[in-house]
Formats: sequence, structure tokens, C-alpha cells
Amino acid sequence: MDVITSVHQMKVFSARARAMNKKIAFVPTMGFLHEGHLSLMREGKRRGDILVLSIFVNPTQFSPSEDFEKYPRDFARDSRMAEGVGVDVLFAPEAREIYPPDHQTFIRVTEVTRGLCGKSRPTHFQGVATVVAMLFNIVMPHVALFGEKDFQQLVTIQQMVKDLHMDTEVLGMPIIREGDGLAMSSRNTYLKPDERKAALSLHRSLKRAEELILQGEQRVASIIEEVKKMLQSESLLRMDYIHICGPRTLQEIERIDGDAVVALAVYVGKVRLIDNFVYRAPRK
Ligand code: AMP
Repeated sequence: MDVITSVHQMKVFSARARAMNKKIAFVPTMGFLHEGHLSLMREGKRRGDILVLSIFVNPTQFSPSEDFEKYPRDFARDSRMAEGVGVDVLFAPEAREIYPPDHQTFIRVTEVTRGLCGKSRPTHFQGVATVVAMLFNIVMPHVALFGEKDFQQLVTIQQMVKDLHMDTEVLGMPIIREGDGLAMSSRNTYLKPDERKAALSLHRSLKRAEELILQGEQRVASIIEEVKKMLQSESLLRMDYIHICGPRTLQEIERIDGDAVVALAVYVGKVRLIDNFVYRAPRK
């Protein structure tokens, strides 16, 4: 596995690979890798001739009050894991090269970032879209893989790629969970044992929402009420939002009469966790 830290070297590598007709698959991450990340890499390995992984804790997607400084980092462990799944290039640039002091261009995807996490994190998706656009320009991937765990992020990137006529295919991949249902996340390491236990209600309440929908409940208000009740019965949790929306527009809906995503964000102590469930309606 090659480790590349320079933007120029990464571009040269990708230009050469493209000239040799190699298909580049790309998995962007912020590191502190877990099985969720590895599942994207394994699929990337299947989809491309060359697999590029980036590890970059992107400062512009954190607000000043968020955890940028203390976001978990372990480059040595990440490198070993990346090598283990067959990553060809690990791209790990320095922040000062990605954002030189005179940097002033940002990408804002307006509609799909308005609700859900965009409400409590108003500049987050601008940071995400900007860094992903930069990484796409540098890595020049044919295909890029993102987790459905960050569903709004996936939709934002898909919208950006469409709007800006970019050539990268963006694939969404299923959420990988711990054995007890907790969605894997680098931020889970912040959880104390009692918080870790309380966090299981996220998945449990989503399972309940799924059950209701599969039983034929179409009224979004009733589903939300039931999910809220379950979450509120857990004293260590504080709800940020629970929404049910269309999976492309992320606009809230009132009735389930097609595909829908049930998305929630919850504070467990100081840790903000997100999770979701995508309902795919039977095709008529
Ligand atoms: P992050 O390092 O948290 O920015 O995540 C990098 C990529 O991994 C994003 O596309 C995430 O959606 C994806 N990802 C994170 N956690 C999971 C998970 N539990 N299952 C599937 N994909 C995930």
C-alpha cells in the first residue's frame, strides 16, 4: 500500500491510473476505522481496479463548539486495517495543503441540507460538500462509496455530483452495526458504559418504526409519536430530531406511500449519535 500525503502526488498517481484505463474506486473517511468503513472498502475493491482510501479529519465540517480537536485519531492502526483489506493508496493530506491560508471557495447544496442534521449543524454539509468535491478533483475516482449511516451526507453528495455534472458514480452502502444493533461510529468510543447501553434505544426505536410500517401504519405522526415515546423513556437520551422523509428530497412527508427514511439524532450525554432506517416500498 502506498501512503500519499501530497495533493500533487495523488493527482499524478490518479492521472497515470486513468491513462492505463484503470477504474479508481474511492472511500473518503475521517479515519479511526471500523467495520463500517471496511465494508465500503471491500465493496470498493470489488468495484474498481485501484482502491484509494482517504483519511482526513476535515476542519470545515466541525463548528467551533464541536469535537474537531478531540476527534479520535490512530493512523498506525488505520494503516494496518487499510492494508488488510487491500487498499492500494492511502491518501492522508495535511489540513494546510487542503485549505491553504487564502482558501475561500465553498460548495453549498441548498435544499437537502436544510432539515435533519442541517438544522442543528448549519455549516456542516457545506464543509462536507466542499471537501468531497476537492477530494474528487484530486483522486479523480470513477466510483465513490459512502455509508447510509450518514444518510443526509450521502444524499447531499449525490445531489452535488448531479448538479455540478461531476463524473463520479456515488454509491450508498448499508449501515454496519455492532452485534447488539448499535450503528458503528468512530464517535462510539466517547460513550461511557451506561451511555453505550442507553444508545441501544436508537436502533430499538427504529426497529419499532419498521415494525409499524410493515404492519401497514401509514400515518407518519403516529409512528413518530411511538418512536419519541421509546426514546424519551431512556433518561440518558436527549432527542435532537426524529423525521420521516422522502429518501431523495429529504422533505418531510405525512403518509408513508412509497420509499421513506426514518432518521433520528440523539444526544447521549455529550455525544451526538445519528441512525436511520430506509423503508423500501414493494415495487408495484
Ligand atoms: P466518517 O469517517 O465517519 O466520515 O465515515 C466515512 C464513511 O464511512 C462515510 O461514508 C460514512 O457514512 C461511512 N460509515 C460510517 N459508519 C458507518 C457504518 N456504521 N456503516 C456503514 N458505513 C459507515
